[in-house]
Amino acid sequence: MTHSHNLEMKEYQPDWRSAYLSIWRNIRPPPKLTCSQWADEYGIVVNGPERGKWVTRPPQKGILDAFSDPRIEFIYLKKSARIGYTSIIGHAIGYGIHQDPCPQLVVQPRDSDGDKWSKEDLQPLLDGTPVLRALVPQARSRDSKTTIKVKHYPGGPLRIVGANSPADLRRISVKRAYCDEVNGYPATAGNEGDQIGLVITRTDDYYERKIALGSTPTDEGVCRITKEIKDSSQGYYIVPCLECGGEHTRKFRQEEKPIRLRGEVLPVSYLKWPDGKPEEAKWFCPNCECLIGHDKHAEQMRLGYWKGEDWDYRDDEFNFLDTFSGKIGFNIWAAFGYSPNSTPAGMATQFVSCKDDLEKLKTFVNTVLGEEWKEPGVRLDDEYLMEKVEDYPAELPDGVVFLTAFADIQEDRIEVGIDGWSETEESWQIDYQVFFGNVQHQRVWDELAASFRQKYKFADGRELPIAAMGVDSGYLPSTVYEFVKKFGYTHCYATKGGSDGEGVPIVEDRQKRLLRLRKRNKGSYAPEIIGVHEAKTTVFRRLRLDKVSPGYCHFGLHNDLEYFRQLSAERLQTTYIKGRAQRKYIKIRPRNEALDIKVGNLAVLRLANPNWDKWRDAAKAGVSMATTKPRRKRGMIKKRGR
Ligand SMILES: [Zn+2]
Repeated sequence: MTHSHNLEMKEYQPDWRSAYLSIWRNIRPPPKLTCSQWADEYGIVVNGPERGKWVTRPPQKGILDAFSDPRIEFIYLKKSARIGYTSIIGHAIGYGIHQDPCPQLVVQPRDSDGDKWSKEDLQPLLDGTPVLRALVPQARSRDSKTTIKVKHYPGGPLRIVGANSPADLRRISVKRAYCDEVNGYPATAGNEGDQIGLVITRTDDYYERKIALGSTPTDEGVCRITKEIKDSSQGYYIVPCLECGGEHTRKFRQEEKPIRLRGEVLPVSYLKWPDGKPEEAKWFCPNCECLIGHDKHAEQMRLGYWKGEDWDYRDDEFNFLDTFSGKIGFNIWAAFGYSPNSTPAGMATQFVSCKDDLEKLKTFVNTVLGEEWKEPGVRLDDEYLMEKVEDYPAELPDGVVFLTAFADIQEDRIEVGIDGWSETEESWQIDYQVFFGNVQHQRVWDELAASFRQKYKFADGRELPIAAMGVDSGYLPSTVYEFVKKFGYTHCYATKGGSDGEGVPIVEDRQKRLLRLRKRNKGSYAPEIIGVHEAKTTVFRRLRLDKVSPGYCHFGLHNDLEYFRQLSAERLQTTYIKGRAQRKYIKIRPRNEALDIKVGNLAVLRLANPNWDKWRDAAKAGVSMATTKPRRKRGMIKKRGR
């Protein structure tokens, strides 16, 4: 027995008895009741319009029984609202108190979510279910150790932990663990490790352990449950058409990407309604093309069954193929529920009312359809961007009038991107350089200075210098300020990513900026603040343009797949803070320098605010206008606001 195990034994008394019991249980036949039978016998609904005695609906049966089937270890639930999820988890826990007494763990996104869930969902269930009330002493009784976060019972306890406090997961050993709303788990800080990984480790001591992961989906690319459920053998609820007997699952719309199951495309029934009459929506049978009304719902559900890649659940029983790994996944959404809002008419009407409001539509897609939200518009991924690569006729394609450079400072390197611009802000990625070396040392800065002084050639030999440049000062502010001062160009800026909120302009307005510049002249250097959120939105919108037009971004053969990976390394995500939607760019890949540099170049262009007429003439002549320090008052670059 390991040292840590000894600690556990001390802390949670029991446990010779439960250890003995668990050995005994493992050699005796499975418990008499399945989890769905237990729920039908003892279960209650504590909240909502269906308060009272629980009745397991057909699609819920397989999900509940996954919590009592010894062949299943991991249960993944990608789900919408309105499918009875809260009750399902409650019954699975009740089963783990009454039928399979063992230590259990519930992980909610944050401590506060855990407390809320414990008070509002769990406690009424424990109080209202007689067999559970008898086993779990009330917190109110004098000798009870039970609290909001720990519920004691013979063989227990049940602990409730917030994923924001992974330290609370130490020294716990449990047989049944429920990771709830995993999409809300905060990114882990420090070396605590990923919460789900920690939870799984906490179950290592047990045979027939159960680990459940459930969540409503969120944005494509960042959706945790979508990622996790791929590890499982995913299943769909299949219902028959009562007209033709053809079997299908349900989706709100016809799928762009067909669902493949067991090597075949899974037939999908979707909603259809006459133009402008969503209240007449019905399910379209892909086999006989009839329309199925809601009056057939109960019968279809009753005849339905779960079908997974190497398992199914029908007639109240699981069947597994030999390939089944013990990891089961359920995709379930409102169409398989019994809520009065989840009728075809209800869902179609709700869709029509929110389809023009992207925020509302996203909520509908996530919480009613149980699907990931895809930002509308052209897909933006590395391979799509890669298709944009052109063979430039020379370093500088015709059309370039003005060159900017932007440098991103990392601990061990400086990366620089040089962009060419036309007056319509059509841009050409001209060059991308990386200078490796400790940025505390002078050498990399000399290399950066040299790269800022480079000139680039058109096909006919005309040259253009870099006319404006920026250096991100977020990492090493004083070194960057020093470099910028020494470099000496008026249009060499130290920049800093400003507030990441929406609506902050890419560069500050003239008044604000002048005020700051005056301060700078008095000695305290202030970097240029970039409205990063707006700049990224502009860049992403432009990257999506599919034909040459104002703002279009060109790329050359020197831009490789890694470059485009970095360029598409972030996604816009909507989070709700106190009920208010907030959109934020978040990284979906570890490296995003190319994007920061593209964004930085746009900001530098806006800061420089070139006098396009003069620069067009200059480019025509190929005169190196900026090779000497421009005069402060009357350079080639007009003052802002003219
Ligand atoms: Zn049919």
